[in-house]
Amino acid sequence: MKPAPFTYHRPTELAEALGVLAEVGHDGKVLAGGQSLIPMLSMRLASPANLVDINAVRGLDGVTVDADAVRVGALVRHAGLERHEEAARAIPLLRQGLRLVAHGTIRNRGTTVGSIAHADPSAEMPAVLTLLGGRVVAASVRGEREIAVGDLFAGPLETTLEPDELVVAAVFPRPPARSGSAVVEVARRHGDYAVCGVVAQVVLDASGSVASARATYVTAGELGRVVDLGEPARGLEATAPQDVWSAAGELAAQTVEVEGDIHASAAYRRHLVGVLTQRALRSAAQQAATTSGRSAA
Ligand code: FAD
Repeated sequence: MKPAPFTYHRPTELAEALGVLAEVGHDGKVLAGGQSLIPMLSMRLASPANLVDINAVRGLDGVTVDADAVRVGALVRHAGLERHEEAARAIPLLRQGLRLVAHGTIRNRGTTVGSIAHADPSAEMPAVLTLLGGRVVAASVRGEREIAVGDLFAGPLETTLEPDELVVAAVFPRPPARSGSAVVEVARRHGDYAVCGVVAQVVLDASGSVASARATYVTAGELGRVVDLGEPARGLEATAPQDVWSAAGELAAQTVEVEGDIHASAAYRRHLVGVLTQRALRSAAQQAATTSGRSAA
């Protein structure tokens, strides 16, 4: 199928883009990498009367790393952020998530901010932003506002953005000291959307015991929700030879909501939530121990 007819806009300045978005309102859609939007147009799952292509807008393609956070502009491609050494050093979870987003060709074009604005529960980067407690910066002709990730997602493929708002950047806060992270998922082929995935963070106390353990889920659970899994492991030595994480995995399997679909039954997905949570927390704990100078078991 081919998309329904639309008017194509290609602004080169942010003010011009915001002006067009204000003018077209509900009849417009932002086009960034097009990796999700173009298939939706082709299948006529969306048929906006106006496409506002932001690819020529100046000043949206920067990555800024400062003492608190990594700020990612709206035109930063997944691949560009994945390769950004300073960003990866500041927040290892960025690269851990990005390497599992789609295939290389799609990462060359798709944007990380576009993935967040798209609010797909099967996407890795909304889950990463959620776990880190990040935010987006939304611009319109009325000015800029920051939206905390907890207030951004309104449901699958739905956000609280106004139709004339453009997300100019996503801000990923740095993780706390003595923390480690991991992204573990099962997909039918590398680069496919995950059947189920876990984005996890473990924080250790000064003695190397578990202080907190948290996770967000991909293709499971509620988009934008962080699950606290710390209780069963709190105070245990994070990398002890005995199994520290099985109870946390069981807690996740009981807590996280799952649904069945053509790729997996609800029971299989629940099983994956439990197993992958254990693996992700164990791996995150190893990383936390290594980066805080404690040898991993
Ligand atoms: P677009 O497709 O241009 O836009 C997507 C939506 O977001 C549109 O509604 C658009 O209006 C809106 N939007 C985009 N940018 C902004 C902005 N700055 N402000 C406001 N609204 C905006 N993703 C994964 O996470 N994991 C995967 O495993 C995965 N597998 C894929 C496999 C295939 C075969 C394909 C085609 C895509 C896959 N993707 C996957 C999606 C990919 O990551 C996209 O890049 C991403 O979802 C959207 O980014 P984009 O820049 O292409 O956005």
